[in-house]
Amino acid sequence: MAVRLVILGPPGAGKGTQAERFARGRGVPRISTGDILREAVQAGTELGRASKALMDAGQLVSDEIVFGIVRERVVRPDANEGFVLDGFPRTVTQARLLDSVLKGAPPLVVVNIEIPESALVERLTTRRICANCGWNAVTGLTACARCGGPLVQRKDDGVEVVKERLRVYARETEPLVEFYESRPTFRCVDGDQTPDAVAADLAAAVASVGGVPA
Ligand code: AMP
Repeated sequence: MAVRLVILGPPGAGKGTQAERFARGRGVPRISTGDILREAVQAGTELGRASKALMDAGQLVSDEIVFGIVRERVVRPDANEGFVLDGFPRTVTQARLLDSVLKGAPPLVVVNIEIPESALVERLTTRRICANCGWNAVTGLTACARCGGPLVQRKDDGVEVVKERLRVYARETEPLVEFYESRPTFRCVDGDQTPDAVAADLAAAVASVGGVPA
């Protein structure tokens, strides 16, 4: 059964890791606005040029730009059976725009990954991604397990930018919990566990919404 899943949570909560696992398991695309924007920056497109400075500073790209990306992506054929949104929506305006584009579709399942703020700075400033394919590296590896590429720190994972991203999250994105929490398809999971345990809780949370086997 199609599942249209939004994974919410602060930077460093494990949204990317969990979104990728869940999407792979269900055979649906993971749609990460952060990945799409980073690819655009690397490719030097107009979108990338418009976004780079904001991303490097830990600020949000405009609602119009990111909604334009998502609106076009969710109607592609590979998203017919569902999708996992990772890093979108990030503002209440984006959430309203998403509702408007999905009007008439089965309701979104929204899962908030909860994690104490004290764990986030350490997680973000020590994480590494693959310079070639963007894979989120598991701690302790020296090369990408997927393509063998070199592991690097994300440009916005330095300590000062991380602190700004957490401030932006608290101001712009945390209000989304209130926006969604009264819906019957909203769930929370504890993100302060091993990735396997979070994945199990996420699957159970989605299943508990009904009609979707874990
Ligand atoms: P992420 O990989 O999700 O942490 O996103 C990295 C950066 O891309 C963010 O800090 C923002 O600058 C930008 N970005 C990604 N998704 C969005 C969004 N939904 N709204 C605004 N900016 C975004």
